[in-house]
Amino acid sequence: MADQLIRATAADGGIRCVGAISTRLTEEARQRHRLSYVATAALGRTMTAGLLLASSMKRPGSRVNLRVKGDGPLGGIFADAGLDGTVRGYVGNPSVELPPNAKGKLDVGRAVGRNGYLYVVRDVGYGYPYSSTVELVSGEIGDDVTHYLATSEQTASALMLGVFVSKQGVTAAGGLLLQVLPKAANDEELVETLSSRVAALSGFTPLLRSGKTLPDIFDRLLGDMGLHVLPEVQMLRFHCRCTRERFLGALKLLGVAELQDAIEQDDGAEGTCEFCGEVYHASSADLTELIGDLQAGPS
Ligand code: ZN
Repeated sequence: MADQLIRATAADGGIRCVGAISTRLTEEARQRHRLSYVATAALGRTMTAGLLLASSMKRPGSRVNLRVKGDGPLGGIFADAGLDGTVRGYVGNPSVELPPNAKGKLDVGRAVGRNGYLYVVRDVGYGYPYSSTVELVSGEIGDDVTHYLATSEQTASALMLGVFVSKQGVTAAGGLLLQVLPKAANDEELVETLSSRVAALSGFTPLLRSGKTLPDIFDRLLGDMGLHVLPEVQMLRFHCRCTRERFLGALKLLGVAELQDAIEQDDGAEGTCEFCGEVYHASSADLTELIGDLQAGPS
């Protein structure tokens, strides 16, 4: 199934529900950054969480940045997700691999580390972005983002994130966010019910792998609570805003002497985009042109 995000409401608008399938974009990230199994799960969960958080923003162009900085060997995760359904991200040490945890699952918590912080930045495209920091709960990402929503945004939420990686690559990835909105937030029983229903699902990827669609999953959770699935299907994809022009612009900042060195010693220059792994090349002729621009002065 294509990567997609679907929204729903229930309980007369008291519950907001959003689900995402992110299998292909997680596989693309895995290939681009040559991620290990555990790094794939960590980045896939973080990118999916970013897309779920961005989906509640209103203004076109809004984005959410998540930065996870724990004390584990993975060395940090970054994801940049937009309301438009695009996402990009990377991890500090993509090749880190760990034995499975006690439940036989990829040990994301140990790879990330339990001691550290989750930084969240919401950018609506103008003014100062809204940023917030919370301590990590488990490093498993889902718990950490739920904790952020409860403490920084005062929203009771239930979040599920899952990435299934096999020898063939990522075969299922996605997530689901249920939020109890302020008008229903006092209803503790409701929050309790939702949390226990989510817990009873025992994982998101098994549902996807058994052929369940997002509306099927919504129905299982909220079918008896006045579920209303919104008809819009938002497509999701891995996308980075880097371009060759930006790469050349960055090279220009090195100055004439450094560019001259690159021509003489390396016959050109090469750079890799941190966010998506794209490799850009500049030939000696390109560099000579940049030197010409610099010598001509600001136009
Ligand atoms: Zn890029």
